[in-house]
Amino acid sequence: MAGPMKVALVGIGKIAVDQHVPSISASSDWELAATVSRKGKVEGIEAFTDFAQMLAARPDIPVVSLCLPPQPRFPYAEAALKAGRHVMLEKPPGQSLAEVHALEALARDMGVTLYATWHSRMAHGVADAKAWLADKTVEKAHITWKEDVRKWHPGQDWVFEPGGMGILDPGINALSILTEILPSPVHMTAAVLQFPENRDTPIAVDLTFSGGVTAQFDWRQEGPQTWDIEIQTNNGTLTLHDGGARLVIDGVEAVAGPDMEYPRLYARMADLVRSGQSDVDLAPMVHVADALTLGKRVVTDPFYF
Ligand code: NAP
Repeated sequence: MAGPMKVALVGIGKIAVDQHVPSISASSDWELAATVSRKGKVEGIEAFTDFAQMLAARPDIPVVSLCLPPQPRFPYAEAALKAGRHVMLEKPPGQSLAEVHALEALARDMGVTLYATWHSRMAHGVADAKAWLADKTVEKAHITWKEDVRKWHPGQDWVFEPGGMGILDPGINALSILTEILPSPVHMTAAVLQFPENRDTPIAVDLTFSGGVTAQFDWRQEGPQTWDIEIQTNNGTLTLHDGGARLVIDGVEAVAGPDMEYPRLYARMADLVRSGQSDVDLAPMVHVADALTLGKRVVTDPFYF
């Protein structure tokens, strides 16, 4: 495929506007050819409110990027794949593991690309952290992921509805980094989940894994936000700060750089489509499912946006 590929963006909300639209606009691989959203639009781009109508009207668009929340996403992904389109999924790739397995099988049958994206894996320090850890033994690790839900999900009730995962929605970003960089996999052994008394998903969790790995995620942090992973090995300590953007090894700054996560996701999608491959790694979501399976439930104060 030569020249830019046409892509349709579905679900014009916070992440589409903040990241997808600017990343597509800045890339020579891509041309934003249509949007599908009930309310959202992108100036100058053909806008549909109905997905089936877009698929029928624009057979010239080979790629669909889905920025909807996970709960309504499956039927969109299924329809796109059945229509022979390549599909890019925002994280988390679905509201359950089984529905993503079904999409993976469908993409294989249709001979098209499915990319379950993990934007945090594209953060500046992640590849170097993985390389540094490759020949070491992890002795202990701790993740601190504390942010303000009102800032990052303003008024988005879906995060607190079944399938929305609560704090595990951003926490899965940490888990996507952990599962990428650890030299050997770990599994969850215990979890404590704090549910606001008026909500269906947790607002804070404490997770314990095999291999000395622990994690604390909390959505009630105002002021400075914390997205850190510290890993002690048999030969030094590594810390990823700012969601993986900054890597510090034994107290010395090793890698830092501007945010290129979404441009890198779109570059990867272009490579996958051109090489006829898919990339669907569900390891981060397995940990989320295990947290919800193993978790001891604690009821806490009600939460209102
Ligand atoms: P959002 O703004 O609440 O939703 C995106 C858009 O999806 C909405 O504007 C809405 O557009 C459409 N939508 C919502 N519910 C729908 C439904 N039931 N049926 C059909 N369309 C629906 O969410 P977001 O923050 O962009 O998050 C979307 C995805 O990106 C999530 O999986 C999230 O984890 C991921 N993400 C979010 C962030 C962040 O900072 N917020 C960062 C990274 C990744 P219309 O009403 O116009 O149809």
